[in-house]
Amino acid sequence: MTSINKPRILTGDRPTGPLHLGHYVGTLKNRVELQHIYDCFFIIADLHTLTTNPSLEKTSMINDLSRGLVLDYLSVGIDSEKSVIYQQSRVPQVAYLSLIFSMLITVPRCQRVPTLKDVLKDLHIEKPSLGLLSYPVLQAADILMVKANLVPVGKDQESHVEVTREIANTFNKNYGNLFPVPKALIGDVGTLPGTDGLAKMSKSVGNCIYLSDDPDTVTKKVMSMYTDPTRIHPTDPGKVKGNPVFIYHQAFNSDLAEVADLKARYQKGTVGDVEVKQKLAIAINDFLEPIRQTRAKYQKKTGLIDDIIMVGSQKAQSEAQATLDQVLQAMKLN
Ligand code: ATP
Ligand code: MG
Repeated sequence: MTSINKPRILTGDRPTGPLHLGHYVGTLKNRVELQHIYDCFFIIADLHTLTTNPSLEKTSMINDLSRGLVLDYLSVGIDSEKSVIYQQSRVPQVAYLSLIFSMLITVPRCQRVPTLKDVLKDLHIEKPSLGLLSYPVLQAADILMVKANLVPVGKDQESHVEVTREIANTFNKNYGNLFPVPKALIGDVGTLPGTDGLAKMSKSVGNCIYLSDDPDTVTKKVMSMYTDPTRIHPTDPGKVKGNPVFIYHQAFNSDLAEVADLKARYQKGTVGDVEVKQKLAIAINDFLEPIRQTRAKYQKKTGLIDDIIMVGSQKAQSEAQATLDQVLQAMKLN
């Protein structure tokens, strides 16, 4: 797998729940395509889950949720032979690196990260923990630990990658050129809204269609989706722009002529929400069907997931230790 010349990717997910359609358009699609060109590190960012809810109830779920993430990865086509899949808490060097990086960035800079405000609002957090404030610093340690060049993330994470770039530049300036300054790669749909009309489909909010949902569940969720609230009768002209139902059609319906026809009729008031949603449910189920089949194949292989996490975490650990040694040497701390 890892080779000397290939550029590197680091990206991943918090094990706070199963992956959803937002993850697919935001980052999984890019990951599957790029794993052939890059050396990829996919992180199960379990320490990052503590930033928003460190209760025992939640921490005791992390290992099961982490296994679920790996199954989600495999089901969309991530290849564990090609890429390293690892669990953040099994790589303790990252905490050391994060501590050092936290000295290279100011508190007001972290307070200015726009994602922080969104998370506080969406998760109803009144006062952030110190850990939540330094979320992007820990993320910088994840990314720079493997010297990643590219970070395929959803739009909401772009400002975090900017923090990583700043930390890499500061480190390089102060102690010598050690880190590549990585770039964010944003999925083409941007941020996928939730089924409830919130700006972001998010697993901690629960407004999601999961990659693992069965066809009936998908249909039920789609049929109760938020659309254009100003439209009362099917004969009222409706809004397409910013309407989650049409954003999903655009992202998942491969029948482009159908999408164009539905949009035109919706704007004229000649199609009802029910028909638009029924067609969307069919399109999403068609999209998910091959993913379900791959999932079923891997689900039968007992022990596979634990092995993938163990082997990947060992590989990540040796990368992390090598980087940490270089950091300490560059800072004359060794
Ligand atoms: P949580 O609510 O626990 O933060 P999440 O749904 O935001 O969960 P994360 O694990 O934080 O998911 O994000 C993993 C990756 O998926 C990130 O790169 C993030 O930008 C991307 N992502 C998550 N939700 C969406 C979305 N709705 N649209 C596009 N990308 C998304
Ligand atoms: Mg998130």
